[in-house]
Amino acid sequence: MSFKGKVVIVTGSSSGIGAAIAIQFAKEGANVTIVGRNEVKLNKVAEQCESFGAKCVKIIADVASDDAAKRIVTETVEKLGQLDILVNNAGIAKTAFLLAENAVETFDLVMNTNFRSAVVITHHAAPHIIKTKGNIINISSIGGLQATATANFMPYCVSKAAMNHFTKFTAKELAPHGVRVNVVNPGPVKTDIAENAGYVPQAQDYFWQKMKEGTALKRVSDPEEIADLVLFLASDKAKAVTGSSYVSDNGMMIV
Ligand code: NDP
Repeated sequence: MSFKGKVVIVTGSSSGIGAAIAIQFAKEGANVTIVGRNEVKLNKVAEQCESFGAKCVKIIADVASDDAAKRIVTETVEKLGQLDILVNNAGIAKTAFLLAENAVETFDLVMNTNFRSAVVITHHAAPHIIKTKGNIINISSIGGLQATATANFMPYCVSKAAMNHFTKFTAKELAPHGVRVNVVNPGPVKTDIAENAGYVPQAQDYFWQKMKEGTALKRVSDPEEIADLVLFLASDKAKAVTGSSYVSDNGMMIV
């Protein structure tokens, strides 16, 4: 799968799944825009992308800001000349029970970061992707397909369910323009997500152990496994695939 000459935006690419996706695209010849708030982590990912000869545009931004969402697209097109592939990946797993004092605040933060940002970025990116007949991949979660997580994951799971539906409607609107849109629903993937959600190290170990035990295959994925799936969906091998949801969860949903 060569992506030579293609330009890819990956949001939330300073760590975890987004970093693996950006690095994998760079390895396959693409030029990439990487986005996150943590400059130190973003610099490390940029170095890895550039080690494959890729041009890499770094954007330090909060995706939940509408101005930043627009800038991510305009800066990419200005500096890299075009836009072929958008991966809406940035996300947080902050939790709050509905009866908690911070319920609404947490809901807004999670929805704006995980879902609304994808709508705004896609709105700005779509005209450029239509020009290149490229495609869009959204990163959701199996939490968007089922309600088996604890109740305090409601904001996260609702944001991911919205992402699944958004994918289908965007695929419908953009199909006449030759643009495909798909969504990946991962199960547990070992990344910084628990740490970034504020879990202390001991709680993180417990969380990953519980996740592992909850899968049929008794394992959690590495971010590269999700990146492989994203690159497949972005490639011509998936030219018949649009409006589809791909689960990669080590069999968690069948347990
Ligand atoms: P990480 O916490 O490792 O990565 C999240 C990325 O999103 C980071 O690069 C972070 O960058 C970025 N990000 C978060 N908030 C913002 C923001 N406001 N503005 C810009 N960037 C932001 O987690 P994962 O790699 O695991 O998560 C990636 C995606 O995969 C998420 O959407 C997550 O929901 C989804 N997912 C993950 C699963 C897992 O088990 N790991 C399972 C299912 C889905 P920075 O901190 O620099 O801002």
